[in-house]
Amino acid sequence: MAFQPRSDAFVFFGATGDLAFKKVFPALQSMIRHGTFDAPIIGVARSGWSLERLRERARASLEAHGGGVDPEAFAKIAKLMRYVDGDYSVRATFDALRRQLDGSQHPLHYLAIPPSMFSVVIRHLGDSGCAQDARLIVEKPFGRDRASAKQLNETIHTVFPEPSVFRIDHYLGKEAVQNLVVFRFANTFLEPIWNRHFVESVQITMAENFGVQGRGGFYEEAGAIRDVVQNHLMQVVGFLAMEPPATTYNEAIRDELVKVFRQIRPLTPANVVRGQFEGYRQEPGVAPDSHVETFVALRMEIDSWRWDGVPFFIRTGKNLPITSTEAVVKLKRPPLTKLAAGQGNSLRLKLNPELNITLGAQIKKPGSAMVGEPTQLSLAHHSRSDEMSAYERLLGDAMSGDTALFAREDAVEAAWAVVQPVLGNVTPVHSYAPGTWGPAQAEHLTEQAGGWAHEASEVSA
Ligand code: NDP
Repeated sequence: MAFQPRSDAFVFFGATGDLAFKKVFPALQSMIRHGTFDAPIIGVARSGWSLERLRERARASLEAHGGGVDPEAFAKIAKLMRYVDGDYSVRATFDALRRQLDGSQHPLHYLAIPPSMFSVVIRHLGDSGCAQDARLIVEKPFGRDRASAKQLNETIHTVFPEPSVFRIDHYLGKEAVQNLVVFRFANTFLEPIWNRHFVESVQITMAENFGVQGRGGFYEEAGAIRDVVQNHLMQVVGFLAMEPPATTYNEAIRDELVKVFRQIRPLTPANVVRGQFEGYRQEPGVAPDSHVETFVALRMEIDSWRWDGVPFFIRTGKNLPITSTEAVVKLKRPPLTKLAAGQGNSLRLKLNPELNITLGAQIKKPGSAMVGEPTQLSLAHHSRSDEMSAYERLLGDAMSGDTALFAREDAVEAAWAVVQPVLGNVTPVHSYAPGTWGPAQAEHLTEQAGGWAHEASEVSA
């Protein structure tokens, strides 16, 4: 990577909000503990708060989500923190910010704010001179469809050039997701079989055993496809399906991701099943006749030399039996069905709640018959106490100007192009009982591929 100056101020729009509370203050504390952060932290919001009140909010955030308050790190946060109070639609807010930035050459502006305010803030940052040699972090959702994503990119580029733009998809900051690349390409035994000759299907499941948790109003604007398929789950597909990156080039991984996204056929209604959990329409903020999906199952096809004919199934939803994210790669079965009992090998890559890789294999069933029985070989990854959270990793990378783990403009637009044909109500939404694996129609999608790969322990959970 070419030399990039470190950002020398962290400007934090949305400092009084939910994301700041859950993720950003904890990430700042960790960075300070690890000695990787030492710049003014300037919160900007309109609550009429004092600096002292923002410090108290940071303390409460660390107690609730940061593993407790580290007195030394907190003292440093409190010292580095400043606060600008004002509405984002008013120029005076940005003039006040400009004064606070006095002495900073390369500020980093983080938009942890409602997407409706992105363009307003970006324009004011440009007009007020705060964007000079600065960087920009944008939170998801990055547009609502392909056209709005394109429009937002255009607005951003009137002020910030692409190398200064950091679009957060926190899945890219997760150790377990990055491990997909290492596991695939650093193991000689995998690469020869990672293609259509040996792989029968790939399934990716992101299940949550909770509902919309009082955020019905937010969810009504999104739905499962916009909320997690277009971004997080597409990144998982990308890491599982991409060609080996040329490691000498810092855009290598992002180049390979966008190539995969462009090879995925746009989804068709026939390959998509949407569901909504019973009771969703009674949630606060949800329309009584809402057709927003809280569950989706779909089949993707990748038109590439490597993956031609191999279905990639995705399934995600709220109020499912468990909380877990995993990919299951099913290999073709060997021809001798008696030995293999009709099953091929499979590789289960669990990404959440913790990284775990299981190889489903066959060994001889003890006894006189020469038949196999399934068994599992498991590789567990034990998190280290100093392991970085996705937000710590990503905010640290943005401060040092490293864009590798952020969504690039072309990839975001290519991912929208895949889901675009199934946005809105182009397919029916089927209801399902909370605590089940979604509507029965979802089962039909994988019927010819042997069904969804449930883990025995999880089905009964
Ligand atoms: P909140 O509604 O909790 O916070 C919004 C923040 O923006 C508040 O600090 C609010 O200030 C400020 N704000 C809004 N409008 C104005 C305005 N006109 N002038 C000044 N300040 C304003 O949102 P979240 O924190 O939940 O979400 C922020 C972003 O992060 C969104 O893009 C969201 O999609 C994304 N995100 C959120 C996640 C989460 O878990 N919450 C997860 C992943 C992404 P004030 O309080 O003073 O009004």
